Amino acid sequence: MAAAETDRDAPSALCSEFLNFSAKDTAAKWLQVSNLPKEVYQHLACYVPKIYCLGPNLNPQNEDLLAQLLLQGPLEWYLCGEEPSVGLSKLEQNNQPSQLCGHVFKVGEPTYSCRECAADPTCVLCMQCFLGSVHKEHRYRMTTSGGGGFCDCGDTEAWKKGPYCQKHEPNISDSSQKDPLANLSAEMIARTYNVFSIILKYAVDMLTWDKEDELPEGLEPPARGDMYYCMLFNDEVHTYEQVIYTLQKAVNCTQKEAVSFATTVDRDGRKSVRFGDFQFCEQAKSVIVRNTSRQTKPLRVQVMHSSVVAHQCFALKALNWLGQTIRYSDALRRILCQVGLQRGPEGENSSLVDKLMLCDSKMWKGARNVYHQLFMSSLLMDPKYKKLFAIQFARNYERLQSDYVKDDHDREFSVTDLSVQMFTVPSLARMLITDENLMTTIIRTFVDHLRHRDLQGRFQFERYTAQQAFKFRRVQSLIGDLKYVLISRPTEWTDQLREKYLEGFDAFLELLKCMQGMDPVVRQVGQHIEMEPEWEAAFTLQMKLTHIISMMQEWCASDERVLIEAYKKSLSALTHCHSGFTDGEQPITLSMCGHSVDTIRYCVSQEKVSIHLPVSRLLAGLHALLSKIEVAYRFPEQLPLSELSPPMLIEHPLRCLVLCAQVHAGMWRRNGFSLVNQIYYYHNVKCRVEMFDKDLIMLQAGASMMDPNHFLMIMLSRFELYHIFSSADCRKRYSRENANKDVVQQNNTLIEEMLHLIIMIVGERYTAGVGQVEITDEIRREIVHQLCIRPMAHSELVKALPENENKETGMERVIDSVALFKKPGVTGRGLYKLRPECAKMFNLYFHHYSRADQSKAEEAQRKIKRQNGEDSVLPPPVLPRFCPLFASLVNILQCDVLLGILGAVLQWAMEPSGGHWSESMLQRVLHLIGMGLVEEQQHLISSAEDYNDTNFNFTLKISRPGEAPANTASILALLETLQNAPHLEVHKDMIRWILKTVAYIKTTRECTASSPPSDSSGHSQEETVRDKEKAERKRKAEMARLRREKIMAQMSEMQRHFINENKELFQQSLEDLDPSTSSTLEHSPSSCDSALVCVGPRRWRAGGSDRRQVVTCILCQEEQEIRSDGKAMVLAAFVQRSTVMSKNRKRPPHNPDKYDPLFMHPDLSFGTHTGSCGHIMHSHCWQRYFEAVQAKEQRRQQRLRVHTSYDVENGEFLCPLCECLSNTVIPLLPLTKTCCSSEQPDLSQWLNITSHQMKALISAHRKSKASSAEAADETDGVNDCPPPDGFRLDHTPKNPYSSTIKEMLTTFGTATYKVGLKVHPNEQDPRVPIMCWGSCAYTIQSIERLLVDEEKPLFGSLPCRQDDCLSSLTRFGSACWTVSSHTTVQNHFIRLLAALVPDPRVENSPCILDVDMFHLLVSLVLSHPAVLCLDSSGLSADAAQLHFLHLITVAHVVQILLTSLPEEVRMEQETGGAEREEEESVCLLYNTLRSLLGRGLREVSSGWHLWLCVKAGILPYLRAAALFFHYLNGAPAPPELHALGAGEWEALCGYLCLPSNLLQLYFNNLDIMEPLLHGWCSHPALQALQSSVTLIRFPRESNHLIDLPGDYSALINQASSFTCPKSGGDKSRVPTLCLVCGAMLCSQSYCCQTELEGEDVGACTAHTFTCGAGVGIFLRVRESQVLFLAGKTKGCFYAPPYLDDYGETDQGLRRGNPLHLCHERYRKIQKLWRQHSITEEIGHAQEANQTLVGIDWQHL
Ligand SMILES: [Zn+2]
Ligand SMILES: [Zn+2]
Ligand SMILES: [Zn+2]
Ligand SMILES: [Zn+2]
Ligand SMILES: [Zn+2]
Ligand SMILES: [Zn+2]
Ligand SMILES: [Zn+2]
Repeated sequence: MAAAETDRDAPSALCSEFLNFSAKDTAAKWLQVSNLPKEVYQHLACYVPKIYCLGPNLNPQNEDLLAQLLLQGPLEWYLCGEEPSVGLSKLEQNNQPSQLCGHVFKVGEPTYSCRECAADPTCVLCMQCFLGSVHKEHRYRMTTSGGGGFCDCGDTEAWKKGPYCQKHEPNISDSSQKDPLANLSAEMIARTYNVFSIILKYAVDMLTWDKEDELPEGLEPPARGDMYYCMLFNDEVHTYEQVIYTLQKAVNCTQKEAVSFATTVDRDGRKSVRFGDFQFCEQAKSVIVRNTSRQTKPLRVQVMHSSVVAHQCFALKALNWLGQTIRYSDALRRILCQVGLQRGPEGENSSLVDKLMLCDSKMWKGARNVYHQLFMSSLLMDPKYKKLFAIQFARNYERLQSDYVKDDHDREFSVTDLSVQMFTVPSLARMLITDENLMTTIIRTFVDHLRHRDLQGRFQFERYTAQQAFKFRRVQSLIGDLKYVLISRPTEWTDQLREKYLEGFDAFLELLKCMQGMDPVVRQVGQHIEMEPEWEAAFTLQMKLTHIISMMQEWCASDERVLIEAYKKSLSALTHCHSGFTDGEQPITLSMCGHSVDTIRYCVSQEKVSIHLPVSRLLAGLHALLSKIEVAYRFPEQLPLSELSPPMLIEHPLRCLVLCAQVHAGMWRRNGFSLVNQIYYYHNVKCRVEMFDKDLIMLQAGASMMDPNHFLMIMLSRFELYHIFSSADCRKRYSRENANKDVVQQNNTLIEEMLHLIIMIVGERYTAGVGQVEITDEIRREIVHQLCIRPMAHSELVKALPENENKETGMERVIDSVALFKKPGVTGRGLYKLRPECAKMFNLYFHHYSRADQSKAEEAQRKIKRQNGEDSVLPPPVLPRFCPLFASLVNILQCDVLLGILGAVLQWAMEPSGGHWSESMLQRVLHLIGMGLVEEQQHLISSAEDYNDTNFNFTLKISRPGEAPANTASILALLETLQNAPHLEVHKDMIRWILKTVAYIKTTRECTASSPPSDSSGHSQEETVRDKEKAERKRKAEMARLRREKIMAQMSEMQRHFINENKELFQQSLEDLDPSTSSTLEHSPSSCDSALVCVGPRRWRAGGSDRRQVVTCILCQEEQEIRSDGKAMVLAAFVQRSTVMSKNRKRPPHNPDKYDPLFMHPDLSFGTHTGSCGHIMHSHCWQRYFEAVQAKEQRRQQRLRVHTSYDVENGEFLCPLCECLSNTVIPLLPLTKTCCSSEQPDLSQWLNITSHQMKALISAHRKSKASSAEAADETDGVNDCPPPDGFRLDHTPKNPYSSTIKEMLTTFGTATYKVGLKVHPNEQDPRVPIMCWGSCAYTIQSIERLLVDEEKPLFGSLPCRQDDCLSSLTRFGSACWTVSSHTTVQNHFIRLLAALVPDPRVENSPCILDVDMFHLLVSLVLSHPAVLCLDSSGLSADAAQLHFLHLITVAHVVQILLTSLPEEVRMEQETGGAEREEEESVCLLYNTLRSLLGRGLREVSSGWHLWLCVKAGILPYLRAAALFFHYLNGAPAPPELHALGAGEWEALCGYLCLPSNLLQLYFNNLDIMEPLLHGWCSHPALQALQSSVTLIRFPRESNHLIDLPGDYSALINQASSFTCPKSGGDKSRVPTLCLVCGAMLCSQSYCCQTELEGEDVGACTAHTFTCGAGVGIFLRVRESQVLFLAGKTKGCFYAPPYLDDYGETDQGLRRGNPLHLCHERYRKIQKLWRQHSITEEIGHAQEANQTLVGIDWQHL
C-alpha cells in the first residue's frame, strides 16, 4: 500500500518504551499474581491499542513485530517457563505427530479420491499423500479444491483400504491410546491451561463483541483516544462495481484505491475505508448507506472506535498464535480442545467453542476463516475431542442452520460447512444418530424451513419470491448433511439404532407426504394457460432427494426388521395420503370378454393429477426389496399384505403414466412448456430411478396381485380407451366411429402408449426383486441398450446411466463384458462398441428409450443384421424369470382382455386405409405376441428340466377363434391372412417369425406330449423353413443388387455433371492429395543436362516449353498463361509476424518507425512469414471480390455491430474457395529468362569489377545527393571514380512487367511491409523491398526447419500450396526491385555487400556474428539485379549468384567456427582418414582465426570435431539455399534430395555447385579470402567476442513448445501455488500457461490488465505481443483447455493434449478422471504453431462457430 511515511513515524515515538520492555520479566510477574486473567487483560488493554490500528495506513510487518515482542513474547515465556525457543523445541521432541495429514486445501489445489477405496467421495487426499499411497494404482478421481476442507490421509474410517500414505504410516501401533498429557509436567499443564483459557476467552470476547464504542470489562484502555474507523462490511448483494463507485463518492478516493478496498472487503469480509474523528467517519458512513439503499438493503457500515478495531485485530492474531503453538505438541493441542469445550458458567452450550459457533453468522468473513482454521487444526485433529465437538455441533445444529439460512455468505464461510468433517465419519454419524437423534433433527429442521404449504399441508412453490427462492437454495444444504449421515450403511444394527433410524424414517415420511401430490395440474381446454406455472422448485427438491430416497431404501434393505417396519410405515403413510380416495364418486363397473370389475370414476383429462408421488414410490422400492430377500414367503404373517389394496396401489402411478401418454398424444398442448419439462424430467436419468422406474414397479406389484383381466380393464378405463375396446364389435372400430380425425389420431397414440406400457409391465424384469437378477445385470442391460443406438464414448455412457450418491454408475464392473473399446486417433475420442454376441439382448421397447432413441436403435440393429446377412427381424429377447412375488405377471399375456385387444388391432390392420390404425400400434401388438411366444418357449424349456407341467399355453390361446355370436377369427388366423397383405411389407418379417415360432412350439409340444423329444422331426421341420427362407433371401438380395446398380448409375451421372462444373476445384483437390505428382511433373529434369545444378553459370536451364505455365482463376474459371506482359494472376496469401524460430524472446520489440531491418540477427527474434492456401485468381477478379466483401462488411456493420472472423479494414478476407484467412495476394511471375553466357570472371576478377562498380555507384549517389541538397562543394572522392567499362550509371532499364503485375507487386510489397513492421502502409518507404526479401528468407528457413522436424525429405514432400507459395514468393522477391526506387535498392545492395566485403566507405557495417547468413544471401541475390541492370558488359546474374553463395558460405563457416567452441573433449574419432583433407583444412582455418583473435578460442588438437561442427552447423543454411535457388531458377532437384538418408551432403553440395570440402572455397582463393578474414576479425564487436554471453550457436535447434508433465494434476498443483504477480499474494483465478515460453499468467482478471497500444488488454493478450508477435498458445489450467490468440480480436479454444483412460478430453475438468499427456495431440498443436497455422485455425474455428466471434479475447 502507498504512503508508508506516516506509519514509519508513528511507532518510533513509542520506541523507547518498547525497547525497555522485557517479556521474561512480565512473564515472571504473571507467575506471581493471584488473578492472572485480570493481569493479562490489563497488559492487553495497555499495549494492544498502542500497536494495532494506529492510523489509516496500516503497516502489518511493523504490527506483527511489535505484537511478537510485547504480546506473544510474555505469553510464550509464561507458557514454557523458560526461553520460548528452547521450551517449544522440547515440546516438539515429545510430540506424537498426528496420523492424520490434515493438510488444508488452497483454492484450486488438486485433490484425489479413490473410487475403489474411499468411504465416500468427500474423502480426499492431498497430492503428496496421494503420490505416496496405494490408490495411485487404483481408479481415482481428481478434482480441484474450492478451498477449505482437509486431507483425510490417516483417517482409518475414510478408507476401506490403504488409509495411510508412506509418510503418515503409524510407526508405533498403540500410540493412539496413550494420553498425550502423560509427557507433560503438572506445572506445565497448569500454565498452558491458564494461558489458553485466558487468550481463547479474550479472542472469543472480541470477535463476538458487537458494541462499536466500548470494550469488554477489563480491557478499557488507560488513556482513551478519540479516533474512529469507518468499517465497510462485505455482503453478497452488491456488485464490485457498485461498491467501487460508492466508495469513490463517499471517501473521495481514486478508482484504484476503491478497487483495492473492494477487493479486501470481498476477501476479508471487512475493511476500514476511513480513519478520523467520529464526525468524519459518520459522514462517510451516511454517504455509503444513502448510495446503496436504493434498490436493496444498504451496505453494512459501522463507525468503530479504534481501540475496538485494534483488539479485534489482535484477537485474530491470538487465534493464529494458538494454532501455531499447538503445532508443537499434541499435548498442547489437547489442552486447547479441553479449554474450548469446557462448559461455561451459563451451563448447556456455553463453552467458548459453542459461543463462537453460535455467533458465526454475525462475524465477518476474515474472523470466521481464522477460527474455522483453528477448529480444524485442533478439535478435528484430536479423535477424542472430535467426537465431543461433533456432539456439540449436533446439539446446536438447528440453531446453526437457521442462522446460516438467514445469513447471506456462501456456505464455505459458514461453520455449518464443517458438518462434512464429522458426519461422513461412519462411527461419528452412527453415534450422532443414536445419541443425538441427528437424522430426525436434520429432517425436521429441513421441513421447518419450507413453510409454503397448501390446504392439505403439501409444499407449494407456486408464488414464491426471489427471496424465498434464495432461502430455498440455502436450505438444500441440509439435504447434503443428511446424505453425509447416510452415506455409509451400517453393517451391524443395535436396537437403539433401529429405533432412532425408524424415528428418522418417520420424519422422512412426513417430508415425503408434503410432496405427495404437490404441484397438481389440470388439463387446460379451450384456452392456453396464461402463465407457465412454477415447476422447477418441486423438481429441484425431488432431484436433491433422489439419492436420499435410494439410500433410505438401502439402509432398510440391510436389516430385515427395519425393512418390515419401514414397509408398514410407508404403507400407512400412503393410506393416509389416499384417505378420501373413493369418496364422493360412485364406483362404476367395467366388463369385457366375460370379466367384470368395479372401479372409481376418474378421468386424468378432466381432474387434478400430480407427477409427484414419492410416498408410493418409496413403497414400491421397499416392496421390491421385500420380494428380493424373500421374507415375504418365510414370514408372511409379519407383513401387512392383507392390508394392501392393489387398485389403490396402482391408481396414482397409473394416472401419472396416463398423463405422460396424453401429453404425448397432444391432449395437453394448452398447458404449456412447464408440463412438457416435468414429463421430460420424470423420465430423465437424473430423476427416473425414484420416479418413472418406481411407478412401473408399483404397477407391476399391483398387477401381480390382481386378476390380469381386471387390471387391464382398469388400465383401459384410465387411458380413456375402454369405450373403444369394450363394445362387442370393437373389431370394426372405424366402420362405427365416425370420428373427427384429431380424436382418432389421439386415440391411436393412446393405444400405442398403452400397449407399450403393457410391454413394459410384463417385460421389465431387470430390477433385483422384480426379476431374478443381480444389480450388475441391470447395469449391463442399460449399457447394451445404449450401445445398440451407436458406439459411445465413456462420458456419453456415464451421462446415460444413473449415478448413485457416490457419483458411480457401476459401469466399470461390467463394461468389458458387453463392449469393446476402440482407441481414439489424433482427433476424436475413444469409443465403446457393443460386443456382437450381446445384440441378442436388444429389446426394441426398452423402457428407458425415448422415441428418438428407439427409432435410432431399431435402424442401427436392422442395419447390422442385414450386413451380417441375417434376417432383419427384431424379435423380443429372452427375459430373466420373475421373482415369485411378481410371477403372475406373465399371465397378462394370455388373458382374455389382452387377447381381445390384440385381435382387435390385427383386425383393423386388415384394411390398408390410413388413420384407422398405425404402424407402431401393429408393431407393438406383434411384439406382445412375440413376447408371449418367447415366454412359452422358456416355460417349455424349464418344464422339460423340472418335469413341471406348465399352464402357460399362449399358442393354444391365440389359435382359438372368438366365441359366438361374433365368431371372430383367431389371432393366428388373422396373422396368416396378414402375412400376405401387400400393405404390411414392413411387418412381414416379424409376422413370418411369429408363425414360424408358433409352428416350432406346436411341434415341440406334440413331441414332448407323444414321445421323448426327438430332434430329427423338429429338424426337418426347421430345415424346410430354412430352405424357404434361403430362397426368399436370395430373391431379396437380387432385388437389392438391381436397386443398387440403378442408384449407382444415377450417382455417377450426377458426379460427372458436378466434375464438369467444378473442374478446377477437382483438380486442385486431387493435387492436394498427392503432393509428389505436381512437383515431380513440373521439375522433371530436362534432357540437356545430366548434372543438376541450381546456381551459377552451369545451372540447369528451362527449355521454352518447361517455362510455359497455365493456370485457372478460381473466380472466373478462365485459363491464363503466366507472362510478364500478361494479365496478373495472384495467389491468396497471409502475411504474419512470427517468433516461431526466435532464439531470444527477451529482445524488446523494435520501434517500428526507426527500425532498420536490413540485417537479420542470427537469433531470428522477429520474422515475417508468408503463407498461402495456393488458390489462384486474376488480380482483377480478386479486386472485384475484395471490394464486394468490403462493401458487404460496411453494410453489415451499419445494420448490426457483429464482428467477423476477419478484419476487412486491415485488408483481411477469406479465400473465396477454401475460406482460408488471407490478408494480401502474391503475384505469380514467370521464370526470368537468362541465356548461358560463355565466359564469366572468376571470384577475384568479379570482386574487382564489383568493387569498382560500387565505388562508382557510391560516388554517383553522393553526387546526386549533394546536388539535390545544395551543398554543391562536396568533393570527397566524387570525381575520381570513373565507372568500369559497360557500367552505365545513367541507364534506366525498361520495366518488363505489365501494369497489372506492377500493381500487384506494389500491393504485396506494401502488405508485407505493413504487417511485418506494424506500420501504416507506405509504398515509398525504402524498407519495403527489404521486408519482402526478409519474408522470403524467413519463410524458406521456417519451411526448411519444418521439413527437418517432420523428418521429410527436402524436396518432393511439400504440399503443392506451399510449393506454389514459395516459388511465387521467391520470384516476386527477385522482381520487387522493379517497382522500388533503383537508387534505394542499389544502396541496400552496397550496404549488404559491405557486411561481407568490408568497405571503408560504408559505415556501420555489422559484425559477421550479428548477421543471419541466409538472410544476407537472399537479400544480396534479390537486390543485385538493381545493380546488374546497369551493366552491359555481359556479366551474368548467374555468376554473381554463385560468387555470393561462395563468399557467404565461407563467412558462415567462420561464423560457425567462432561460435561452436568445443566445450569438452569428446570421444576420439572412430574412423580415421575418411575426411582427412577436410579435417586438416578446417584445423588450419581455425588456427588462423586463433592467431587473429587470440585468447578467445580454445586450442584444438584434431580437426575431426571441428569439421563435424561445421558440417552440422552449416547444413540448415545449405538446405535453405538449395530451396531458394531451386525456386528462383527453377532447376529440378537431384533424386537424392527427394529422399531421406545418406548422400544428402554430397547431393546438396553438388546441387549448389559447391565443393564437398567447403574449406576449399577458402584455400583455393586465399589471395582474396585472407584479407576478407582479416577484415571480419577486425570488427570491433568481434574483438569483444569473449565478453558477449549469448552467442547464437549453429545449427540453431528448432523451437518446441514447452515440455508438459505426463500427469495433468502436476499442472494443477503448479497453478494452485501460482499467485497473481500484481496483487500481492492473491491466488489467480484463471492461471494460464504460455505453451511457447512456459510463463504462467493471471488471465481474465482486472488485476493484470495492462495497456497495449492505447487499449486495456488482459495478461494473455499482452504476453502474446512480446512472446509470440501477437500469436499465442496457452493452456488454461483450471479449465483444461488450450487457448489460441491472434492479435487483439481473434481467438478460439482448442482441445487440450490431455486424455483420460477412455480417450477423452475433459474440457472444464468436470469429470475428474485422471488425465495424461497425449504426445500425438501435443505434437499436432506444435505442428500448427511451427507451420504458422494458428491464425488460420482460429479463422476456421470462428467461421464454424459464430459465438466465438463475440468473445472478448483481448481481455483474456
Ligand atoms: Zn495429505
Ligand atoms: Zn499422508
Ligand atoms: Zn484405492
Ligand atoms: Zn478470374
Ligand atoms: Zn484458398
Ligand atoms: Zn492478476
Ligand atoms: Zn510466452
